[in-house]
Amino acid sequence: MARQLRFGLTPGSLPRLLYVLWDLILQIIPSSLNKEDELVWLLDKSGTFTTKSGYANSRLELHPPGLDDFPWKKCIWNINTAPKLRHFLWRAKSGALPVGSLLQSRGMQADPRCKRCGALETPLHLLLSCPFAVQVWQETPALFKPTADSISSLSELLLSNTKMINLPPTGLASTPLYPWLYWHLWKSRNLFIFEDKAWTASEVALKAIHDARVWEKASRASHYVKIKLLIFFSPFFFSFLVVRNSSRDS
Ligand SMILES: [Zn+2]
Repeated sequence: MARQLRFGLTPGSLPRLLYVLWDLILQIIPSSLNKEDELVWLLDKSGTFTTKSGYANSRLELHPPGLDDFPWKKCIWNINTAPKLRHFLWRAKSGALPVGSLLQSRGMQADPRCKRCGALETPLHLLLSCPFAVQVWQETPALFKPTADSISSLSELLLSNTKMINLPPTGLASTPLYPWLYWHLWKSRNLFIFEDKAWTASEVALKAIHDARVWEKASRASHYVKIKLLIFFSPFFFSFLVVRNSSRDS
């Protein structure tokens, strides 16, 4: 009912809405405590607004369950990459990246145009269709790269990225390269706007490949450390089990 009131209420629709909801309204049992009416926040047990419940509600508004068939796990949360990059992709997909179009939609006095080419700056423009991003993609050694003429949304872009294959010059085995490309496109955009520093497209691609390699090496090393610790401690663990079982038997 609250949802209907929130989304269907206009001065013209009010009588019709009241007629439709008449039976429900009659079922409301007024409080016997004779208290004054007050406004309450229904999404928290306390009745008062909390940032936690407000955030949870805003997430539901952005991604209503059952209505959004974007595979968040496959395209973002399960990607083998650094957590900060997964978070960055989530921000981009959720429309939370402060690019020109977002600032404009929030009524901020900022130039919504891309500082490199003058087109409206959207996340898709920044990561794929800006002539600078096109150059970065050309410098990227990979198969099945996305192209601006075949992709029309960020969902399509992130889905198509899962099919990309790194080519040997990258030296990457299991780490996808595109999250690092997007990260460095974003960093180079901020450096260009706020510090007037201009990286070339080759520099962006090389920095992305370099960071992806470093991360893959570090993550492999930490994986080996975990296996070594497991091998080292497993005899102690099993002997502890044997001692426990034998003490129970006796
Ligand atoms: Zn541009």
